Amino acid sequence: MIKSDNNLIRAVSFNARNEIADKEFFDMLSQQGIEQYDPRLVPVRQILNSLKTDKSGVRKIDQKTLTRLLGEKRLLQQTIRKQQIIPDFSGFTATLDHIFNHVKKVRGGEVANYIPQLASVAPDLYALSICTIDGQVYSLGDHTTKFSLQSTNKPINYALALEELGEETVHRHVGKEPSGVSFNALTLNARGLPHNPLINAGAIMCSSLIQRQMAAAEKFDFILDVWQKLNGIDRPTFNNSMYLSEKSSADRNFALAYFMRENGAFPPNTNVEKVLDFYFQCCAIESNTDMLARAAATFANSGVNPFTNEKVLAPETVKKCLSMMHSCGMYDYSGEFSFRIGLPAKSGVSGAIWMVIPNLMGIAIYSPGLDECGNSLRGIKVAEELVSHFNFHHYDSLKVENAQKQDPRRKKYETKVNAVMSLVFAASAGDLDEMRRLHAVGVDLNESDYDGRTALHLAAAENQTEAVKYLLKNGAHRDPVDRWGATPLDDAKRARHKDIIALLEK
Ligand code: GLU
Repeated sequence: MIKSDNNLIRAVSFNARNEIADKEFFDMLSQQGIEQYDPRLVPVRQILNSLKTDKSGVRKIDQKTLTRLLGEKRLLQQTIRKQQIIPDFSGFTATLDHIFNHVKKVRGGEVANYIPQLASVAPDLYALSICTIDGQVYSLGDHTTKFSLQSTNKPINYALALEELGEETVHRHVGKEPSGVSFNALTLNARGLPHNPLINAGAIMCSSLIQRQMAAAEKFDFILDVWQKLNGIDRPTFNNSMYLSEKSSADRNFALAYFMRENGAFPPNTNVEKVLDFYFQCCAIESNTDMLARAAATFANSGVNPFTNEKVLAPETVKKCLSMMHSCGMYDYSGEFSFRIGLPAKSGVSGAIWMVIPNLMGIAIYSPGLDECGNSLRGIKVAEELVSHFNFHHYDSLKVENAQKQDPRRKKYETKVNAVMSLVFAASAGDLDEMRRLHAVGVDLNESDYDGRTALHLAAAENQTEAVKYLLKNGAHRDPVDRWGATPLDDAKRARHKDIIALLEK
């Protein structure tokens, strides 16, 4: 039993009778990204189900019951206190809504047609889901619509091969370099091996490496189990017609497999036909963006599922897998994607993309219209928008304070307050280097603290002549008024700083 304090109870908005309806209670959790279906809420739902409903079918939670609920689950306390990795979750999701709607206007792209069953998918489907490492979820659009995983499954089979056999053995059969040619090109590296595990040849290779002792049915169940553990809630389904359709039109994949066999790339006694069959089955596993985002969140959380707390993959495996996704996950756009977006991601011809922001969240996007590189057109646009709003690019972290981009990991006002406080302190200390740096990363020189004190007020009050010059030269307003009605000139006069007075009166 976890102790809950009265402040926590007070943070819940009760009605005049000191009750809250169960729906309102769940709405409050949902605002913070915690949904009713979350398996961590099972004990909470059990307690609520034991309450009597009133005439209109509503269950009222009184303070005593709430205390009991809070005692049952640390998750509830964390949620009411907004202590998850994204504290201002509704602020974050408002930006996601904006991005989603903005990108929705983008039309075009071609649905993949080299697998007949893929060609018949509705081109306008569009979905976005995210899941944080604390299990905060949010989804938009067709997020419950299923699609076949296609190549988005490739990192998983690579991860499983690594877990089972270790890096050395796996990479005796598959390289680590981007191929520089299309995902299904009939080519191998100088050692006669597939270039990497995320193109078709490499994925066929990984399919041959994992669980070689298992019968076909057992091996397929094993994969579904892994996908279920990765997303923590749902068992994926299988699209048999997609599988049959791909199998009957897969000359290139057959050619790749025989080419690898000719080059002695497979382990001894590999049955190429069986391997290909398993490969096609994996491509025809179905997911929706909710499931895929939760699986991506397990990667973001170094292999531990946020909902079940189960360690599905070792952190070392996740690290290797993400590195591979970073350099090879997005077909012939991989270099460009890692340059512009700076996140590990994997794309599939069905129009799905999953991305990982380590220690923060998983993201899944689905929209079947593909660009000329074979990536979802809207998927790439969403990724671009995300990194333009948020400091998600891997190297955004190089800037100590990136004021132009939001950091959703921060409390609502933390980024702004930190930036303003740093500037005001730097000005009062006359630290020009720090002022220049803050200005360069986009901090507004006219921002003020809660009392309306600007950098110029502080520089004037502390007789920091160079700082005052710098501020005036770079567009700081001369006469901002603080909450007591004082301007920087008033501060300088009060302290009799002659040089500063002269500068400000000029
Ligand atoms: N099943 C597809 C193939 O092997 C997967 C391709 C992809 O999504 O990149 O052709």
